[in-house]
Amino acid sequence: MSDIYLFDVDGTLTPPKSRIDAKFKSVFKQWSTGREVYIVSGGSFLRLIDQLGLDTVEQMSGIFPCMGNAFYQKRDQINEGGYSEWDAIYENKFISPKNLKRSLNSIVAKSDYPTKTGNHHEDRIGMINFSVVGRNADKTERARYEQWDAETNERKGIVQKLKGIYPGLDFVIGGAVSIDISNKGNDKSQVIGNYFKEALEHNQIHFVGDRIPFPGNDHYLARALTLHSNGAAYEVERWQDTVELLKSQPFA
Ligand SMILES: [Mg+2]
Repeated sequence: MSDIYLFDVDGTLTPPKSRIDAKFKSVFKQWSTGREVYIVSGGSFLRLIDQLGLDTVEQMSGIFPCMGNAFYQKRDQINEGGYSEWDAIYENKFISPKNLKRSLNSIVAKSDYPTKTGNHHEDRIGMINFSVVGRNADKTERARYEQWDAETNERKGIVQKLKGIYPGLDFVIGGAVSIDISNKGNDKSQVIGNYFKEALEHNQIHFVGDRIPFPGNDHYLARALTLHSNGAAYEVERWQDTVELLKSQPFA
């Protein structure tokens, strides 16, 4: 029985929406050498490359971006130009129900939060990423919204409201300021059903994430794993906790 490791990115390997710490990057690369390691993130594939660096991403056994709505694996051979090539093993299609975007725009318009930077919903593979502060927000504006959300629980309220209107969709709180929207069941836990179901019978699968309590975007994957005797989930609060975690069993 061997070990398989899955990692969230924002808040687990990196500060939210930021690049990995240079020192930790080399520690993580070194640690992953010879191990079977996968990334399971809400972010897009390109954003993950930007955050972790192409060299780190290339070293992974596979990448599940967009909440596991897509799966990419590097080919063994590089192309004639000397670049690595990737296979898209699967990519889900998200069909946005009529009026969903109108509902999202109305939530933005009605929110009491004063700063709205535009670009409030982004289509990703198999999902939509939504935020009241908007994707144009800089770090300070994002931090301010995060603080405000912690005080008012705005995102929890939005999730409750949207669940009532769109029962066929899942809404989870991801990252520091946003909500991830997907078809029901197409949260991070889908990587088990899509890819690791059989592997879980014969391997130990470990998942590290910072948003494990409901309705965090790591919740369902952590639950799917902990319901199985071969699965385990580890909650961190920030990437520095992961640095420590890697020094302990079953990671060390
Ligand atoms: Mg996270």
